[in-house]
Amino acid sequence: MAIEQTLILIKPDGLAKSLTGNIITRLSEAKLEIAASKCIRVPRQLAENHYKSLQDKPFFEELIGYIQGKYHSRKKVLAMVYYGEGAIQKVRELSGKTNPEEADSISIRGQYGRITTKGVYENVIHASSSPEEAEREIKLWFQPDDIIFDIYPTKNITEQTTKKVWA
Ligand code: UDP
Ligand code: MG
Repeated sequence: MAIEQTLILIKPDGLAKSLTGNIITRLSEAKLEIAASKCIRVPRQLAENHYKSLQDKPFFEELIGYIQGKYHSRKKVLAMVYYGEGAIQKVRELSGKTNPEEADSISIRGQYGRITTKGVYENVIHASSSPEEAEREIKLWFQPDDIIFDIYPTKNITEQTTKKVWA
């Protein structure tokens, strides 16, 4: 099996339901390593880009609202990169099917997901589904220095920027 990285998001419903510990415990069954993690308030542009392959779906607008936390008390997600052999498939298997009603009942989505009255699958976790998707998504959510392992090529650029530092 190939050494891979995969993007995992604990979605706003997972955070609002205080499921972080439960989900990370389930993910530890895959014996992968955490390579990066951060808590982030999701800007609309990031949400749209992340789900851009679904932009023509009827539920797209609800989906963007969902990942931005518009329907939950926690307007944030916990983004993580997991690293290891067969990481993508292992995490997808532990997550379960997209539709929480069809997901294996002991998968993460089967255990904790629900379908809202508006029909959105609130399935508590996102996991990349292919190496191409993982690379695209990891590069969207993280910068090279945020990640412990270098799998994707990087380059150095010099630029003048204004950034926030500790006062
Ligand atoms: N989704 C939904 N209804 C659908 C399909 C997808 O609400 O009929 C939501 C669900 O939260 C899902 C996300 O859109 O996790 C992304 O959909 P995708 O088909 O990529 O499923 P995933 O890769 O997350 O299993
Ligand atoms: Mg997907």
